[in-house]
Amino acid sequence: MTQFKPVKTNRIFEDVLVQLKEAILSERFKPGEKLPSERELSLEFQVSRGVIREAIRALELRGFVGIRQGPAGGAYVTDLTFNQVGNAFLDLFKTNKLSMKDIAQVRLHVEPEVARLAALNFNPSHMDMLMQVEQDEHVDYVSYADRIDRLTRAHKSLALICGNQFFEVIVRSMLMLTAEVVLTVASDHDLLHGPGEHQAVIQAVISGDCDRAAREMASHLRQFSQNLIEMEITYRQRYL
Ligand SMILES: [Zn+2]
Repeated sequence: MTQFKPVKTNRIFEDVLVQLKEAILSERFKPGEKLPSERELSLEFQVSRGVIREAIRALELRGFVGIRQGPAGGAYVTDLTFNQVGNAFLDLFKTNKLSMKDIAQVRLHVEPEVARLAALNFNPSHMDMLMQVEQDEHVDYVSYADRIDRLTRAHKSLALICGNQFFEVIVRSMLMLTAEVVLTVASDHDLLHGPGEHQAVIQAVISGDCDRAAREMASHLRQFSQNLIEMEITYRQRYL
């Protein structure tokens, strides 16, 4: 039981939001966990579903949860540590202290190494996750953001499997920044990065071939680095 207190005051929405935020910050709901449904929360808080919906939307805007669609959909708790580092990178980028060229260069050093470590660390318990990641790239996208999310999962999963949390933080933060630029510029993402492009890396990781995994990741990154660097110009024109 989550044991939220029923809300009595007229600051209903704020109270619900504060309690939910505290539940996430105190890790009563851990990163990756799904919040109870709108219906369950409205019963527990004894407020309308509209209030719950509004509170969840506010949590989403502040980066506390991410909304997933589909049968297993709902509000999932975000990993705030990753978000904080990602936001710091984003601030540096927006104030011109980091460029896409810098990020592309670091990705080209870090991610092949991450793929190498993932191949080294791979065990059968990772198989389902990687197969799912590969499959999910080919389903129909509900939005542009959904497409980017699906196409970055391979990068995130390898960073998770690599077993070094610092690498994982760096990779996820760089992906977040890249996604921000791509989303804002909203150029033709189909040309930038298509589904199935991680297959060679994933196969190399599964077969435990470290050198091939690193090589495949490097060649994958080289394919779209130049496009990303060019996108920065449009991004800065729109953002500033
Ligand atoms: Zn990719």
